[in-house]
Amino acid sequence: MIDNRIDKVLLTADEIEAGINKCAQYINKKFKQSKIPPLMVGVLKGCIPFLGRLISKVEFDMELDFIAVASYHGTESTQNVKIVTDLATDVKNRDVILIEDIVDTAFTIHQILEIFKNRQAKSITFVTLLDKPSRRILNLKPDYFCFTIPNYFVVGFGLDYNQKFRNLPYIGVLKKSYYS
Ligand code: 5GP
Ligand code: MG
Repeated sequence: MIDNRIDKVLLTADEIEAGINKCAQYINKKFKQSKIPPLMVGVLKGCIPFLGRLISKVEFDMELDFIAVASYHGTESTQNVKIVTDLATDVKNRDVILIEDIVDTAFTIHQILEIFKNRQAKSITFVTLLDKPSRRILNLKPDYFCFTIPNYFVVGFGLDYNQKFRNLPYIGVLKKSYYS
């Protein structure tokens, strides 16, 4: 059933699942031979449904951790990232697979990548469910994206509007009347 605050569905639950299957093939191929288990790091909170589905399809030993950051867009410099929840794991010399819900301007992911570089991760593979390249400000491409979307503000499957809608099983566009 479609929530009546949703204008249109961009990606159905089945389409998302098929996209995550392909993503799992990509990381399985890339990391199957790893000697030290890669560390998958979810960027909270939007990563949760994506990460949950993805790790169930992973065919190599892996470890899991999380990071949450508050980023200040617009006029602020890109150094202005506040770590709200930090990793419990030392990432030095580890292969890190970073799991995001969406890349928009790329400020957030740029800041997170800097944190991992400063802490001397061995490698960083950046995977995102959604890519919104039309709004990119920084010249940064994910290593893998499941879907490219047009310039809509989307919710569902982890993505929120004022903390709501993360639980929707599909990805959709909110009705204008709901947020204006
Ligand atoms: P960026 O720093 O790349 O501009 O934005 C990244 C963050 O902005 C995402 O992790 C997400 O929290 C938020 N964001 C960007 N686009 C959307 C969108 O279409 N819908 C939602 N719900 N959040 C978005
Ligand atoms: Mg996010």
